[in-house]
Amino acid sequence: LDGTYDDGNVFALILAGKIPSTRLYEDEHTYAFLDIQPQSKGHSLVISKWSKARNILDVEDEALAQVMATVKKVANATRRALDPDGIHVAQFNGAPAGQTVFHLHFHIVPRWEGQPRGF
Ligand code: 5GP
Repeated sequence: LDGTYDDGNVFALILAGKIPSTRLYEDEHTYAFLDIQPQSKGHSLVISKWSKARNILDVEDEALAQVMATVKKVANATRRALDPDGIHVAQFNGAPAGQTVFHLHFHIVPRWEGQPRGF
């Protein structure tokens, strides 16, 4: 669970511009983009541009604050754009918890009444 991420992980490659992604928002410290296998329309992910944390357990407080500020912006933009009935903000730590990319990220998943809840 601990330690820093492997530079070959898919989100590091996205940050390096080595694989494409659909950008939703970007600032000096954070990057938000669409999930490639969305649980619902508008499912997005937010990552730090500089923290090497694998997950929330070891992330620098400053990086976490920057990422969460962007999570709030993107969640509100998602609400304005798609008018969902609810929004999940989710983050997984370790493979048994469902983590598949070992590079800290937060999911923002719009939810609609009557559609599968996911996670
Ligand atoms: P985790 O289960 O680790 O919290 O979620 C990783 C997420 O990353 C999954 O929802 C998966 O669909 C997404 N993902 C994996 N590879 C890529 C990729 O190459 N591009 C994008 N945009 N998302 C990816």
